[in-house]
Amino acid sequence: MNFLEEKIVKEGIVKEGNVLKVDSFLNHQMDIDLFNEMGKEWKKRFEGKNITKILTIEASGIGIACITAQHFGVPVVFAKKSKSINLEGDMYTAEVESFTHKNKNQVIVSKKFLNESDHVLLIDDFLANGCALQGLIQIVHAAGATVEGIGIAVEKGFQTGGRIIRNLGYQLESLAIVEAMDWETGNITFRQ
Ligand code: 5GP
Repeated sequence: MNFLEEKIVKEGIVKEGNVLKVDSFLNHQMDIDLFNEMGKEWKKRFEGKNITKILTIEASGIGIACITAQHFGVPVVFAKKSKSINLEGDMYTAEVESFTHKNKNQVIVSKKFLNESDHVLLIDDFLANGCALQGLIQIVHAAGATVEGIGIAVEKGFQTGGRIIRNLGYQLESLAIVEAMDWETGNITFRQ
């Protein structure tokens, strides 16, 4: 088991409905040393890639993206969630369905902060069905920028997102891939 898998086994709580709760180190309280290890690991895995910007989505992606950005020496942009459907002006928008909240949000990024010269590393906390990532990919493409890679903390490998994103040809580096989890026993198994 790697450092993140060990932390998940120690502190993660499996909830009914395929939700893994990791509030004690990722989604509420944040373990900065752990984020730093994650950043270091992604830096290794994306070695040689010309990355100019990290793009994430509010709220839980922001902390991870910021610590990771220190390893890449690049700025972080986070997509904002807005419930309004009347967005206008100089922004890129995409519609994202939330796995945890079961609602739809418009996510927006100002055109000021992403353009065709950018080579983007996407970072997020979880990958489930891939809606959040597909929204971010859509925004990068709308800007004429390039997706250089995708770093995910926890991929739920039994949901469809990972397969969809890898089939699209992106380098997707998930630091822990949960193969199965059982809310009744609390058991979690990881992909080797
Ligand atoms: P997707 O768009 O891939 O279906 O879901 C990804 C988003 O949903 C992540 O950004 C994360 O915020 C949230 N999410 C999905 N599954 C889980 C989960 O099991 N636990 C937690 N804490 N968040 C999740």
